[in-house]
Amino acid sequence: MSEERSQTELTESPSVALSELPTDVWHKCSNCEAMVYRKDFEQNLKVCPKCGYHERIGALERLAITVDENSFVEWYGDLQPADPLNFPEYAERVQRDQKRTNLKDAALVGKAKIEGMPVAIGITDFNFMGGSMGSVVGEKIARLMERAIEEGLPVFIIIGSGGGARMQEGILSLMQMGKTSAVCYRLHEANLPYIVLLTDSMAGVHASFGSLADIILAEPGALVGFTGPRVIELSLKIKVPKEHRQAEFQFQHGHIDLILQRKQVRPTVAKILKFWYGK
Ligand SMILES: [Zn+2]
Repeated sequence: MSEERSQTELTESPSVALSELPTDVWHKCSNCEAMVYRKDFEQNLKVCPKCGYHERIGALERLAITVDENSFVEWYGDLQPADPLNFPEYAERVQRDQKRTNLKDAALVGKAKIEGMPVAIGITDFNFMGGSMGSVVGEKIARLMERAIEEGLPVFIIIGSGGGARMQEGILSLMQMGKTSAVCYRLHEANLPYIVLLTDSMAGVHASFGSLADIILAEPGALVGFTGPRVIELSLKIKVPKEHRQAEFQFQHGHIDLILQRKQVRPTVAKILKFWYGK
């Protein structure tokens, strides 16, 4: 058999044929590159059925798979970023990401029920400026917790990937770390439980409200840490193994309480809330 293949033979080979199939029917796993039937992938909550990779999902998708249907009431949904430094292209990026996520900034907060248990919930979204914390994210997280204290509600926050300070807002972004950390402490003083789920949580978000919860949950393989590998390598001239920034490593070292498959998140949080409510 000849080693040369005609164009027809090439397009008939499975790898080429699959890559040409419409993306609305097939999903290519960004970890193992397997082509999986999109319907199966979505039924599996966007976890690859072949390798178990947990694909990033947006805040609204996360909300839909986490809370009871029609139970969510959004709080402070009209807060949107200013451009205090008149930073180049910031206003345009904000507008683009607002369209793409249907959010005014990278955090969605409000009140909902999980298996009938009322909870103050916050979710950050990677698709909005990498899930970075600018003034609006910090303010919404702080207000969420303040209102939870007023209403006597437990708090559940999902770090929907990403993190870091939003450099386009300069020092106003950095001060959100202190602000959100302080309100975590007030929540603690009010004896209200704070649960967090990490699905990648780095830098400023992780070094404030991301790591101050009473119960810290994570999805498998989530990136968890403060400084990214490139910055460590450039500043300290050392190579840091990839697994050091993964949830499993953090779990082994006591920083994370439980690693959960995506399907287990809702029932597990419900169980914790029921325990707290005495149900
Ligand atoms: Zn995969």
